[in-house]
Amino acid sequence: MHVSVLGAGTMGHGIAQVSAMAGHEVTMRDIEDEYVQSGLDAIERNLQGGVDRDKVTPEAMTATLERITGTTSLSDAVADADLVVEAVPEDMDLKRDTVSEVESLVGSDTVIASNTSSLSVTAIMSALDDPGRGIGLHFFNPVHIMGLVEVVVAEQTDAETLSFATEFVEGIDKTAIEVGDSPGFASSRLGVALGVEAMRMVQEGVASPRDIDASMELGYNHPMGPIELGDVVGLDVRLGILEYLREELGERFRPPQILKRKVRAGKLGKKTGEGFYVWEDGEIVGVSEDVMSR
Ligand code: NAD
Repeated sequence: MHVSVLGAGTMGHGIAQVSAMAGHEVTMRDIEDEYVQSGLDAIERNLQGGVDRDKVTPEAMTATLERITGTTSLSDAVADADLVVEAVPEDMDLKRDTVSEVESLVGSDTVIASNTSSLSVTAIMSALDDPGRGIGLHFFNPVHIMGLVEVVVAEQTDAETLSFATEFVEGIDKTAIEVGDSPGFASSRLGVALGVEAMRMVQEGVASPRDIDASMELGYNHPMGPIELGDVVGLDVRLGILEYLREELGERFRPPQILKRKVRAGKLGKKTGEGFYVWEDGEIVGVSEDVMSR
């Protein structure tokens, strides 16, 4: 199969890598040569890491790299593609324009997928003349490590597109879950619900961030507690998702004051060195002083 990936950023290069590892011919398109190259370099680094840890053979690494072509030309990227996955920035107009342009360049059987993490797939794919060929494929970061892909069924997605997309996901050794095109899909909606309640508990002084995280890590076997996860994802990102889910789904997603205060103060989590925790060199070294703690 020929898979075309649009965008060579965080998600695009990962989707290109896992598709090529599964034996597909892949073209990866970005808008500048340097972005294409940096995506290709990231794939090579990931694969080399796999070789160093004995997870990937040197032969598989070479074969995978040979199956990936980088380009800045959209028509070259999608020519002969059976599946096009867009992983361009999260902007509705850009995504609608992208899928519409792709449709004008591909055959009638090509499936067009979006890796949007929050936008309506139905709204993106309504830019197509044949929206039945459109679907969401929501991968997780880092793509080569995470086992889940949400297959997001838009209002217009037809049955062949759904079965094609599900088979593709299973073929690249990921687990596909089928989910309706509803805000936050399955994963973000549930993950954010847990995260927002944990923040409210910190705000109310129910328990300290460390103890709330320990309750989920040790009591429920989560690999990372919800407060730490918020810091890792970025509190500004969390706030943006909450505002969107509140608008779409109601007051249960209302962002707590403590989160708004953190974001206003530029305490965005791991990336700025402080969120609910204090971070140094990517590690937690303490709890933020302005967090009420027991
Ligand atoms: P990113 O900024 O790392 O990469 C986007 C890339 O798209 C950039 O390299 C940019 O130059 C390129 N681009 C811009 N316009 C383009 C065009 N017209 N054609 C081809 N490439 C173009 O962003 P990302 O984190 O990879 O996110 C991409 C998509 O994946 C977004 O919709 C995002 O919501 C979604 N997503 C992100 C994550 C995540 O954790 N980062 C997880 C799941 C889904």
